[in-house]
Amino acid sequence: MRKVYLDHNATTPVDPLVLEAMLPYYREYFGNPSSIHEFGRLARKAIDDGRVSAAKLIGAKDVDEIVFTGSGTEADNFALKGAADALKQKGNHIITSAIEHHAVLNVCKALEKSGFKVTYAPVDKSGIVKLDELKKAITDKTILISIMYANNETGVIQPVEEIAKIAKEKGALFHTDAVQAVGKVPIDVSKLGVDLLSASAHKIYGPKGVGFLYIRKGIKPTPILLGGHHEKNRRAGTENVAGIAGFGKAAELALKNMDKDAQRVRSLRDGLEKGILSAIPHTYLNGHPEKRLCTTTNISFEFLEGESIILNLDMEGIAVSTGSACTSGSLEPSHVLTAMGVEAVRSQGSLRFSLGKENTEEDIDYVIKALAPIIERLRKMSPLYKG
Ligand SMILES: *Cc1c(COP(=O)(O)O)cnc(C)c1O
Repeated sequence: MRKVYLDHNATTPVDPLVLEAMLPYYREYFGNPSSIHEFGRLARKAIDDGRVSAAKLIGAKDVDEIVFTGSGTEADNFALKGAADALKQKGNHIITSAIEHHAVLNVCKALEKSGFKVTYAPVDKSGIVKLDELKKAITDKTILISIMYANNETGVIQPVEEIAKIAKEKGALFHTDAVQAVGKVPIDVSKLGVDLLSASAHKIYGPKGVGFLYIRKGIKPTPILLGGHHEKNRRAGTENVAGIAGFGKAAELALKNMDKDAQRVRSLRDGLEKGILSAIPHTYLNGHPEKRLCTTTNISFEFLEGESIILNLDMEGIAVSTGSACTSGSLEPSHVLTAMGVEAVRSQGSLRFSLGKENTEEDIDYVIKALAPIIERLRKMSPLYKG
């Protein structure tokens, strides 16, 4: 049976060139990068090179502004907890949005329990943060604003440059969870004016279990992992040498092929989207039609539950998801779609299709052909559907 993977916002396959760049660090160059002998120096070199590639991908001026972490989640934790702790004398107010990834939302909830006040800025119908509301929420106690770059469920891109300006004017730090955006859209941290930015390798054809936090020079979030003097005392723990080498290679490839890949994937995504919306009745696009990643489309199939569509597609070899991997298994509607004002009858039946560079025209045709009869069959069984 044909296998079609359309869940790249959950994770991507490791690019063969990335794997090739990693293997030597499991085989011959297995040294501890903190050791001063040759084994150690060879491992250290891999980390240095990975840092250069990571810095280049986001336009960081100084390679020391990149701190490698164990995941995108850890980078988010470090940014929020670290900044909150470092600035707690100055204020106790944080602003984020209602549509963040749980790696940000759940840290905010924990910070609320330890005495910080958090405002969850609303979004409009298209999934974009309401800047006027965000501005109104700022007080002289606001120390940090954290708004994601691109949403993982809808792909919608936020006005980060404008938000960075607002934060700067008010003397607050600005963090962006750019895990979905890095490697897919051009990012220049200097031009954007962000202070902290999170990224993760496995969303860009790198390995799982390695991320980084960009920390603008001069900013000192309190470390959350304590131990040895790794990463210039900012993140203790022996570095994931092979993972960092892989992240570096993935960053290099993403930068080199960004335009070419984006063009191809966008045309596949648009074909899929148009195909579904025209072939299947009672379907609706969620999120801003233009201001979003070229990889992602989020579509509601009214009167159905996303999970049952997923299971039926799975039987045809097709992998898609409802909003976020973290909420799958629960039948709670997506917090992202709810924040956008999508009614339950539509949000429950929403699917995220996230494409990647290995997808083909044939994949898309196969999915559209498989989907239409599944939807028809499920609707016939749905008590909500009246034909
Ligand atoms: C995947 C993802 C994360 C978490 O990254 P991990 O490396 O899987 O921990 C955080 N934020 C967003 C927007 C993501 O898509």
